[in-house]
Amino acid sequence: MLLLALSLAASACSTTGVLHRRLLTLDSHLDTPMYFGVDGWDFAERHRREDDGSQVDIPRMIEGGLDGGFFATFIPQGPLTDEGRAAARAAAHARLDEIHAMVARHRDLAEIALTAADARRIAAAGKRVVFLSMENGYPVGNRPELLSEFHARGVRMAGPVHFRNNDLGTSSTDALRPEEPGLTAAGRAWVREANRLGILIDASHASDAVLDELLELSSRPIVLSHSGARAVFDHPRNVDDERLRLIAAHGGVIQVPAYPDYLLERPASPERNAEIARLRQQFGMPRTLAGRRELTRALAEVDRRWPVPQPTYEHFVAHLLHVIQVAGVQHTGIGIDFDGGGVTGFEDATAYPRITATLRQAGLSDRDIAAVWSGNLLRILGD
Ligand SMILES: [Zn+2]
Repeated sequence: MLLLALSLAASACSTTGVLHRRLLTLDSHLDTPMYFGVDGWDFAERHRREDDGSQVDIPRMIEGGLDGGFFATFIPQGPLTDEGRAAARAAAHARLDEIHAMVARHRDLAEIALTAADARRIAAAGKRVVFLSMENGYPVGNRPELLSEFHARGVRMAGPVHFRNNDLGTSSTDALRPEEPGLTAAGRAWVREANRLGILIDASHASDAVLDELLELSSRPIVLSHSGARAVFDHPRNVDDERLRLIAAHGGVIQVPAYPDYLLERPASPERNAEIARLRQQFGMPRTLAGRRELTRALAEVDRRWPVPQPTYEHFVAHLLHVIQVAGVQHTGIGIDFDGGGVTGFEDATAYPRITATLRQAGLSDRDIAAVWSGNLLRILGD
């Protein structure tokens, strides 16, 4: 009896493994391109989070059965000046140069995807699927017509804001609430331009007011590329149930992240915050692997000296299952936010099979699991 139970458990486990390998799996928010400009760091080589902080590379994607996803060109919000906007635009193009160069260097292993059909073809060829997204509309500034130059370089998903309000609209995490709490006139033009070009609109980081306007204005469904459920953890980056239902009713998808701050209260001591600010000042974003390693060691030391509560894989699962319950399985997906995120028990790209096992245990059919892994996102992206 025990033997039978053991062998049944083993076969359930292996069929989950087989299913995971068979599915087209996409993560809608990977910050990995921030490593592409680091001298000595290569997408095709295996790295360790403990060494350089990175969580995604081709070998770990292969081990974790992750076919690909949206690789973000992320530009932090800076001053709303002509100089600031021009610098952001140049930085976004420089990052896109790095992504295109990295993928071209490994053209036998990875390929840029522009459509749902591309993703299926590239994955079927055994290569990694690299969609391009833009996190923060700052590089476009107050000139929405500039979206077309990023579309021409392959960008197929874009969000208007990041942590701070900007020329396009308000952020969920900016305490300043201007008189017009939603999109600006430039922001509304940005929506029309994104719709016209066929760029998916990503409302992660947007304020509730902006999200409401996006749902009203956009002729196409809205994506939340990495946002959780406010009913599970009350954080401005998460979304309340009513809006989850609205996004679904509008045909959109909510892609659930495993980003520590969005999963649990993490009070930090002033000493910890001061030390992190000092390290940011000292290191910036290191452009060499040695610098990256030094920063990773220093941050690990901060965690050791001034620990904060660490969320686990189960915290992430609570959000994922809640979103499936409220928005529906046809409107839920995965957007972990690796290379910045990750939680205990889900620390790098080798961990993705856990999600398939969890969805199986939750009673989802293979067809529904496939929808969560990519079907929903690709339905919206289209060909
Ligand atoms: Zn983000």
